[in-house]
Amino acid sequence: MESLYNKPLNLHPYFKQKKVYILWCAFCKQRLSDRTMKALLLSDTSANLYSTDISPKPAVDLVGKHYTTDMCSCKIKDMACTSCGNSVGYHVVLPCAKCMDSCNNGHFWIFHLHASTVSKRLNSSGCDVLKWADLEISVENKSFDDEPCR
Ligand SMILES: [Zn+2]
Ligand SMILES: [Zn+2]
Repeated sequence: MESLYNKPLNLHPYFKQKKVYILWCAFCKQRLSDRTMKALLLSDTSANLYSTDISPKPAVDLVGKHYTTDMCSCKIKDMACTSCGNSVGYHVVLPCAKCMDSCNNGHFWIFHLHASTVSKRLNSSGCDVLKWADLEISVENKSFDDEPCR
């Protein structure tokens, strides 16, 4: 199971051009992830959300039991902010064959739009927005210091 999430970034070119967003809990402003992507849900293209490829623990905790939705047979679990306890998204514990076969971004931690406050992450020069392609180079550089420009 673990290897599924630890594979090196091998993103489709489409995803490499996506901007990197830092994401906070919309309820308590705890920082949950410094690398999320604005994405459309495969199974429901009307739903905007943010996703990440690295576990946001310990900022979040998985709560409740596994369940599946009507969309497909992925096994998912709700994800709650450990600071305020609000539900902020879900984690795909076991992706279904349909989702693995389709063009997906390999992100299994999903944040709900209404539970997220985001800011574009800037590159090291502080001038340009970081793209997912840039992350491949600096994947080990987990900096939490870059302040968002407003
Ligand atoms: Zn699925
Ligand atoms: Zn929170």
